[in-house]
Amino acid sequence: MKRLLIFLFCVFVSASAMAHSVAYNKSSHIYHRHSCEWAQRCTKNCITIDSADAKRRGGRPCKVCGG
Ligand SMILES: [Zn+2]
Repeated sequence: MKRLLIFLFCVFVSASAMAHSVAYNKSSHIYHRHSCEWAQRCTKNCITIDSADAKRRGGRPCKVCGG
């Protein structure tokens, strides 16, 4: 039982470290953290999705905020 709890904890921690919500620009295929100034400027082409989802769509992390 204890081992199972440790396993679930590890899965939860690694999953939350890998994927976070980002602002993905459908036009330039660049994704930003919501705190990034470019994410705030991007209102027309940006959608809110998971970083993992943005990568699956061929997205690249922003050079300013790191995605
Ligand atoms: Zn950015």
